[in-house]
Amino acid sequence: MIRLRPDRRLVALLPLAWLAACATVSLDEPPRPAPVILPRPIPAPAPVAPAPAPVAPAQPVAVPAPGLPPPTSSAEPERTPYGPAVAARFPDPAVDYRTPAFAPGHVGFTTNAELHAVLAGLVRDAETRREGPSVQLLALGRSQQGVPLEALLFTGPEAAGTSTRRVGDATVPARPTVLLVAQQHGDEPAGSEALIVIAQRLAHGPLETLLDRINVVVYPRANPDGAEARRRVSANGVDVNRDHLLLRTPEARAQANLVREFAPVVVVDLHEYPVMGPYLEKFNAVQRFDALLQYATTPGVPPFVTRAAEEWFRQPVVTALRAAGLSSEWYYTTTAEVSDRKVSMGGTQPDTGRNVDGLTNAVSILVETRGAGIGALHLKRRVHTHVIATSTILDSAARRAGDLEKLREFVDREVAGEACQGEVVVEAGPTPSEKQLTMIDPATGADKPVTVAWDSALELRPITVRARPCGYWLSDREEDAVRRLRALGVRVVRLDQDGELRGEEYREIGRETVQRPDVRGPIDEGVVVRTRVRVVPALLDVKAGSYYVPLDQPLANLAVAALEPDTQNSYYANGVIASASDEARVLARPLQKGTPVP
Ligand SMILES: [Zn+2]
Repeated sequence: MIRLRPDRRLVALLPLAWLAACATVSLDEPPRPAPVILPRPIPAPAPVAPAPAPVAPAQPVAVPAPGLPPPTSSAEPERTPYGPAVAARFPDPAVDYRTPAFAPGHVGFTTNAELHAVLAGLVRDAETRREGPSVQLLALGRSQQGVPLEALLFTGPEAAGTSTRRVGDATVPARPTVLLVAQQHGDEPAGSEALIVIAQRLAHGPLETLLDRINVVVYPRANPDGAEARRRVSANGVDVNRDHLLLRTPEARAQANLVREFAPVVVVDLHEYPVMGPYLEKFNAVQRFDALLQYATTPGVPPFVTRAAEEWFRQPVVTALRAAGLSSEWYYTTTAEVSDRKVSMGGTQPDTGRNVDGLTNAVSILVETRGAGIGALHLKRRVHTHVIATSTILDSAARRAGDLEKLREFVDREVAGEACQGEVVVEAGPTPSEKQLTMIDPATGADKPVTVAWDSALELRPITVRARPCGYWLSDREEDAVRRLRALGVRVVRLDQDGELRGEEYREIGRETVQRPDVRGPIDEGVVVRTRVRVVPALLDVKAGSYYVPLDQPLANLAVAALEPDTQNSYYANGVIASASDEARVLARPLQKGTPVP
């Protein structure tokens, strides 16, 4: 095995890609540390038809109460959207956080420019400090409005015998990687502030020693345009956190790039949930829990990964939060429709980061703090909640580093080994049940038990089940679909020869066009085709130049999610694949030669 001597200055000298990235930087910006460029920037796929609806400020479920307080200086008293009895339930923790937002006299949250300066500063400090972790800036492209998308890679010192691997220009010790992502939704700022704290503590502080066992990628602001506009969606109105299979936005592609290149064993996604909004109208209640938690809940997530998420991560987080005087519950949401009193756990569709990352066989965990729609109220407590949860997950990952590596190896093999056998759940839904939730009485601030109709995502109810194919065939017209699959890391082969494949064709037997549904209600970004198909046995006459997507690979279930046509997130339903006759299920491995698509 080749062992490279890691030298972070080598990274800084690397070369043309950095120059290209800096070409648009104006001269009056402070000098920037050289970012690491990740490899294989996959060209932006063609726009999806039907095109996303034009940008209209999307109405989040959390329609804030009139008179929503703007983020204020931490020095100013905060106007509250609810009375003092409720506010008194959420005292600030006795901690001192040093992000720009908490600086004395600072107005509003940490800006994009301030965030960049913080990240660059951490890289510079690490370079001047002779010892301690390596901190490298990862350049992931730019947002729709041209803001650099940036993450930090933290790696520990190389012990004798630690092997390394190259990820783009970066030298990465061969340790399991944890990816932390925040602020995919621009109006949910606490996660971003918390990841600044985490980055500070990894660079030089109490989390530093964890880097002897794990690498950590910190991506504090996945939607900087939304952050600047203080709105949920990206600049073109697409919800970044519903875009991880389709990859219509540069923001989602940047995240896909991180996941593909680093193959993290754990991904944590930090959000904030609405505290008032529809809950006030439906239940006359304010939400109580400091944190809501959920892992990946979509068909195809390996059961052992789910078990690890529960036992190694969610349970320790619940315990750590409780020890810090913070409450938690399963993640839930509700639609804006007042007559709909159902409360749902996070969805079962393969579109969110939580679910798509789960289909890469990573332990994928969502942490939401009570924050959307209340401005900067209780900000320190919200940030503290994220800091405790994230630190606990990092600590657990470091202690379980060896187990996580073994788990990943096992499930990667297990998933790949299922090709051509058994069944595949194409679509599943949540299981309806009932749950008692504790909310807060808005007048008295007292706990208010509420029994709700509850859609549980923990028990998936299969809706469509088919035989698991060996792979999928795609016609030579489907280059755009292939590009997206490659961007996700799915292996695709171009067939070199004409030939026959035994398989099944899709016959469309009905279709309707609907607004894209979600557990939060319809998403205001265009429509999807809901198609009904019949699968018909066929001997497929395939041409050289068409594609084969084998399921003998660890990302097989991601391919299933994208390619079975009759689900709302499929490439067919969203216009990436033009015709159901351009794809087919392959039931016996092809005999003809093929070339992997780069
Ligand atoms: Zn969110």
